Amino acid sequence: MDGSKEKGILLVISGPSGAGKGTVAKTLLKNKDYCFSVSSTTRKPRPGEIDGVDYDFISWDEFESRIESGEMLEYAQYVGNLYGTPKKFVNERLNRGFNVLLDIETVGAFNVKKLMPEALLVFVCPPSMEALEKRLRGRGTETEEVIQHRLKRAADEMLLKDRYDFVVINREGSPEEAALEIAARVSEERAKRANLLK
Ligand code: 5GP
Repeated sequence: MDGSKEKGILLVISGPSGAGKGTVAKTLLKNKDYCFSVSSTTRKPRPGEIDGVDYDFISWDEFESRIESGEMLEYAQYVGNLYGTPKKFVNERLNRGFNVLLDIETVGAFNVKKLMPEALLVFVCPPSMEALEKRLRGRGTETEEVIQHRLKRAADEMLLKDRYDFVVINREGSPEEAALEIAARVSEERAKRANLLK
């Protein structure tokens, strides 16, 4: 990837917690044209999560100071914690030609679209709400109260899916299929934009 390439696509992936969008994102990221924007969050790390890789885990005070200094492209509160996207990293990588992937919730996604209308918004659906609940519980990392809150939030988020540029269903056991569908849309969009620049 070098500076002579056209700008990359800002790909925003949303979907309820437990829809498996993380797995879809990991599959997409095997392609070296893509990079992941590591968000900042005030949430505590889950077992196995790595600081600086999964999230930049920071305090509430630090988060607020980053908002004040204008470092966040967007931020939102989700089930009691703050989450935000680093502006500088995203712009730098897009300018270098990478497709930059944001895994963010719906409020943040619509704020990004307002700021950067050229962003491509994809909503990843679970195969069913039952499957979503099973995945959330299977993680075994959240309290019942948090699970209930996340399920309620998931139902609210599902109502917004038609406001996305496109929707993909993450069928049981085949995140590759959903990732391929997204990658095809991104390539199509890149080709369209490259043609417009000719
Ligand atoms: P989790 O706690 O399960 O990792 O994430 C909770 C929700 O926050 C998910 O829907 C995830 O996509 C979203 N999220 C993660 N990072 C960001 C961010 O930088 N901004 C916004 N708005 N949402 C985020």
